[in-house]
Amino acid sequence: ELKDNTIVIVLGASGDLAKKKTYPALFGLFSQRLLPRDVKIVGYARTKMDTEEYHKRITSYIKNPNDTPEMKQQIEDFKALSTYVSGAYDKDEPFEELNAHLESIEAKYQTKERNRLFYLALPPSVFIPVTEKLKKNCYVIRGGVNRIIIEKPFGKDTDSCRELITAVKENWTEDETFRIDHYLGKEMVKNLLVLRFANVSMGAAWDKNHISNVQITFKEPFGTEGRGGYFDEFGIIRDILQNHLLQVLSVLTMERPVSFSAEDIRDEKVTSGYPTISGVKVLRAIPPVERHDTLLGQYVAANGRPGYLDDETVPRGSVCPTFTAATLWINNPRWEGVPFILKAGKALNEAKVEIRIQFKDVTQGIFKDISRNELVIRIQPSEAVYLKLNAKTPGLYTRAVPVDMDLTYKRRFGEVHIPEAYEALILDAIKGDHSNFVRDDELDVAWKIFTPILHWIEGHSGPRPKPVQYPYGSRGPAELDSFVQKYGFRRSTEAYAWPTTNLS
Ligand code: NAP
Ligand code: NAP
Repeated sequence: ELKDNTIVIVLGASGDLAKKKTYPALFGLFSQRLLPRDVKIVGYARTKMDTEEYHKRITSYIKNPNDTPEMKQQIEDFKALSTYVSGAYDKDEPFEELNAHLESIEAKYQTKERNRLFYLALPPSVFIPVTEKLKKNCYVIRGGVNRIIIEKPFGKDTDSCRELITAVKENWTEDETFRIDHYLGKEMVKNLLVLRFANVSMGAAWDKNHISNVQITFKEPFGTEGRGGYFDEFGIIRDILQNHLLQVLSVLTMERPVSFSAEDIRDEKVTSGYPTISGVKVLRAIPPVERHDTLLGQYVAANGRPGYLDDETVPRGSVCPTFTAATLWINNPRWEGVPFILKAGKALNEAKVEIRIQFKDVTQGIFKDISRNELVIRIQPSEAVYLKLNAKTPGLYTRAVPVDMDLTYKRRFGEVHIPEAYEALILDAIKGDHSNFVRDDELDVAWKIFTPILHWIEGHSGPRPKPVQYPYGSRGPAELDSFVQKYGFRRSTEAYAWPTTNLS
């Protein structure tokens, strides 16, 4: 663990991610006194700005800055330990200057220990030169630890990902590298391990004998809104499915790790030992997505909101999907035949990320047409776990009615602070805990699952498929309901309403 004499260096400090996520997370940790005692933060980017401007930017996304005098003071203290150096990403000289700046901070240390944590909040086009320049000019050779945090996208397909991994590995060891998929830092994703492995009742039903189908859903209520140029190059599969939703899937389906240690957990995601003799790896057991298992959509104008193609930054006539549902299959003894439907879309009717596990029908006979059990894990917003089950209607008749057992976090745990994913992950990197970061072999397997479908969508092997249209603000393409039904999803037979008076 980095306890003393640590500098966090944010490369790309002028950017969107730095402003919205990295600095607010650093501040969150700082205000909870979770950063190393004498930590200093150094920003680096090409943009020229004075200290005042830099301080304004890095504190602009801190929530409720004027709440209390303590908060105001903490923000001032945070500014006081943050400095900025401007320079290019592809030349040695500015990195030598950055190093000189770091050394000037370190000159005041009482001991010889010097630790540097580099955070790359940069577009992928400069990942490789920056990792190279940092190693050459800013790496502590003796008396300290160097770590580097990298964000997605890790390449665009199997080959480009391998190139990137290889290039970074030339300078940084796997132990020094922390690849962020911020979904692994989310409270409810971390909770999956506990829900599954600390509960006999859950664990017992966690297989093909009890589960009919699983949906992992990401819904966003807004479109690209002027940032379509970037999006069009990547698309929704690279943005959400191939990384975030697949990571959720792996934690949901992996075998019980031997311990909570990083390598044990990550082994199970890529290596699965169920039953012990099979040794099949959970992500490796997923074949590439098939074309007939996908539904591609693109939003069009509706209710006064512009369509994807109306965004001026989007290339004319683009067939890039803004919605995708893709069904994955896991060829191992636990999961064979269970469809895992990963779906994500922009410009939909709500903001929601959830896992919906639908169990099989009960044996027919005494009951007819009753609802299936469903376990819903809502990752965001308003974290919750609820199990939909059947109970007898109160009264003299024996009739089953769908009800729920509900764990809404706010209600159960009150105003407990649920850490932002980035706070949790930066803290892990400071501690040197890799559990919630993506290992190199995971990336390779993840890309293998999606590369063929991406190449098809991008026209490598023929005409590009045309996505179906859906109106801005809808639940997605009209074909979605028949798509999920095809894989056995059945919506409750009886209208299931959550009593609004209980909603929090
Ligand atoms: P960004 O704002 O576009 O870029 C960050 C900084 O990099 C910019 O301020 C700019 O700084 C520099 N830069 C931008 N384009 C460049 C180019 N073509 N060549 C060289 N330098 C360039 O990006 P971001 O949204 O912060 O994202 C950074 C990384 O995090 C990306 O890999 C992104 O995919 C990932 N990410 C972002 C978010 C998010 O919420 N924004 C979420 C998850 C992951 P200077 O011009 O001052 O050097
Ligand atoms: P639900 O509305 O019964 O079911 C949602 C599922 O059905 C999703 O898979 C959704 O797909 C699909 N769906 C929604 N509208 C549809 C339509 N018109 N036609 C076909 N499929 C449709 O919701 P629920 O999660 O089971 O719970 C019912 C309500 O109670 C929700 O509002 C929920 O938030 C609330 N509730 C809250 C708590 C809590 O706060 N702790 C606990 C229990 C229930 P898409 O996701 O693709 O749209």
